[in-house]
Amino acid sequence: YLYSRDYQRDDTIIQVKKHWIGQGEPVKIMGPCSVESEEQVRQATADLARRGVKFIRGGAFKPRTSPYDFQGLGIDGLRMLSDAARIHDMAVVSEIMSADQIETALPYIDIIQVGSRNMQNFELLKAVGQVQKPVLLKRGLSSTMKEFKLAAEYILAEGNPNVILCERGIRTYEDATRNTLDISAVPILKQETHLPVIVDITHSTGRKDILVPTAKAALAVGADGIMAEVHPNPSVALSDAKQQMDLSEFHDFMDAIEKFEQHHSL
Ligand code: PEP
Ligand code: MN
Repeated sequence: YLYSRDYQRDDTIIQVKKHWIGQGEPVKIMGPCSVESEEQVRQATADLARRGVKFIRGGAFKPRTSPYDFQGLGIDGLRMLSDAARIHDMAVVSEIMSADQIETALPYIDIIQVGSRNMQNFELLKAVGQVQKPVLLKRGLSSTMKEFKLAAEYILAEGNPNVILCERGIRTYEDATRNTLDISAVPILKQETHLPVIVDITHSTGRKDILVPTAKAALAVGADGIMAEVHPNPSVALSDAKQQMDLSEFHDFMDAIEKFEQHHSL
C-alpha cells in the first residue's frame, strides 16, 4: 500500500504556504466550528495568530446531523475565512462535502478537510486525490484503522501524496465523552503509515474541561498536531456551541500546552 512504511520509510512532510506539517514541531489547527461572520473569523484569527497558531479551521460546508440545523455559509464563508487568514499569513483548513464543491472552493482553501461522515465517500476521496492541495482526512465515525488507512489509500492512489490523518474519536457505548478518543490510533498509524497524524481534541471529547490533558496525551504519543475549536463567543455559536473554547479559555489552553511542550521539548 502507498500509505505503508514499506512503500515509504521516511515520514511524509507537508508544506502548506510557509508552514510545515510532520516536520517535528506539532502544529495547531484551531478556529470555530462554523464560519458565521466576517467579524467572528477576524476576532478568532487575531487571537490565534497572536499565539502562533498557523492553521485556521472553520466550516463553510457543514455536515449537520439535522437538515434543519445551520448548514454553513458556503463559498461566502470561505471567502471570509481566507480574507482573515491572509492578514496573518495563516493557512486555511475547511471541509468540503462533495466533488462538485472542489473547483469553486479551492482558491480559498489551503488544506481540504474530508469529514468523518465522508471518510468512505469514495468518489469524494478520488476527487480530492486529483487535486494539488493537501487533504486532512478524518477517521470515520465507526471506522477501523484498516478502513481509515484504505480511505487514505484512495487519495494517494489518485496521485495526491499529501494526506494528513486525523483521529477524532470513534463511536462506542461510552457516553461520558462525545466520542471515544482512540489514543492508541496515533502510535499505530505512525508505525504503519508515513503520513502525519493529528488529533482532534474537541470532536473526540466534546468536553472543554479535559482539553488540556487530552492534548498532552496526543502530543506525548507522537501526534504531529492537534485540532481544537475556538470561537470568540461560543454561547451564540451556530454549531457545537458547548464544546468550543472562548478566547480566554484558548489563552489558558495555550499557556498550559506551551509549558508542556517546553518541558518535554516536543
Ligand atoms: C469538523 O471538524 O468540523 C467536523 C464536523 O468534525 P467530524 O467530521 O470529525 O465530525
Ligand atoms: Mn464542530
